[in-house]
Amino acid sequence: MGPAERLRKLLGDDYVITGWPDILPYTRDYTVTRIHSELRDGEEDWFIVAIPGDEEEIMGILRIAGEEGLGVAIYAGGSNVVGRYTPRERVVIDLSRLCSIEWYDEESGVVAVGAGTIIGELEDWLNRRGWTMGMIPQSVSVATVGGLIAMGGIGMYSSGYGGIEDILLGLEAVIPALGHVRIGPSPRRDLPLPPERLFTSSEGMIGIVTKAYLQAYPAPETRVRRGLLLPSFEEGVERLRRIAHHRVRPDMIRLLDEVETQVTFGLEGAALIYEVHGPVDMEEYVEARARALERLVGEASGIESVEMWFEERYRYMAHLKRLYSAGIAVETMEFSPLWSGATKLYVELRDILLGMDGVVGVSAHIGHIHPAGCGIYFTVLIEADKLHEVYQDLWRRAVSVAAKYGGISHHHGMGMVRKPYIELEYDGWVEAVERIASALDPDGLLRP
Ligand SMILES: Cc1cc2nc3c(=O)[nH]c(=O)nc-3n(C[C@H](O)[C@H](O)[C@H](O)COP(=O)(O)OP(=O)(O)OC[C@H]3O[C@@H](n4cnc5c(N)ncnc54)[C@H](O)[C@@H]3O)c2cc1C
Repeated sequence: MGPAERLRKLLGDDYVITGWPDILPYTRDYTVTRIHSELRDGEEDWFIVAIPGDEEEIMGILRIAGEEGLGVAIYAGGSNVVGRYTPRERVVIDLSRLCSIEWYDEESGVVAVGAGTIIGELEDWLNRRGWTMGMIPQSVSVATVGGLIAMGGIGMYSSGYGGIEDILLGLEAVIPALGHVRIGPSPRRDLPLPPERLFTSSEGMIGIVTKAYLQAYPAPETRVRRGLLLPSFEEGVERLRRIAHHRVRPDMIRLLDEVETQVTFGLEGAALIYEVHGPVDMEEYVEARARALERLVGEASGIESVEMWFEERYRYMAHLKRLYSAGIAVETMEFSPLWSGATKLYVELRDILLGMDGVVGVSAHIGHIHPAGCGIYFTVLIEADKLHEVYQDLWRRAVSVAAKYGGISHHHGMGMVRKPYIELEYDGWVEAVERIASALDPDGLLRP
């Protein structure tokens, strides 16, 4: 009996997919080089898709894959953009059936959720009950809870609610060397190598997260959304730094560079958009926070049409499709410079990228602020027919500049795209990562 038959016996015929065209949705993630590549002959032979319903079945799949000498790739929402999902010659585990949601402890605001649950569905479930997670990535309609944990994700309301590391209170997982593990929810933990930290940004290398315990908050009933126009991006960076240092933080803040300000609002300068949340009947509190922030920002004119930006934000996929049809590939790159290097990184990298053959446009924004620095996000437009030619060089150059000013990633993860450069940041630590992963997954099933 071959691996597909063994998996059918374990899961039932409905939960194993092989062959063309049924495997088609599993051939891609959102990595730009994958979006712009042709399917090759024989691709259908590369992998078998298994859709488990519980941890027992995941353990069974890992056992069969190990005995058959096949690797295992995890497909959750398929929205990662750094080539982390690699289906070739593997068993692909589709986690979509792990999608239950339940209150674990409503008094504490803790929700227990299956790792395959789509973030938008969890947020809708919470909203219907008057709660929110405040974790709204732009990929909210596709990305899953497990994917967000594994890829170290963050949402647009990070200033108020934090990243996945701030809301992940515990988890359950299957580890190849150990089987089932559970780390119950706790508001803070002081024990060695807290597993929820180890799994955050683990990129599927140490095990498969099956359930997460996440913090939820009462949904805000009062909110203020405003936009200010600043003379330049450089000036905006300085003001963001002041806001971060003085801890007068909104729930969401974003600074667009001159290119994005022109495209979005048709204005000259750099747009600063922010949102402040509060409970019902707390307009004074929300207004006071907004005014304090405006005092720190200093002189600036208001932007009237800011609501439009909030509405347009989730139509990103439609914009991407239009550019795709026009022969333009869109790559996004995020880095985390210290405040002292943020403007230098922006100017230096923008100029380098614009000087590259095939690059037709570069813009950037800052969407996440931290006390020591920020998350800066570049959008690079590339002629699609030159993409594969310039891609490696583009990343090599970008990462070497980013490493001079801070971190080489912010929330998209390492994947295959950043893997060659990880030693720029992990001086002497790569070996430790490999040893930890080998101890938990000795046969290397989960490591492409
Ligand atoms: C348009 C767009 C906008 C985006 N915006 C944001 C954003 O605002 N913020 C942000 O952080 N990211 C963003 N991303 C990137 C992407 O959504 C995240 O990386 C997301 O966390 C991936 O989740 P996923 O469920 O799609 O995972 P997948 O892409 O399916 O999986 C990626 C890898 O994660 C690992 N993995 C997934 N699930 C598990 C699990 N349960 N256990 C163990 N390992 C697992 C596996 O190694 C897997 O191959 C965006 C992507 C797109 C396309």
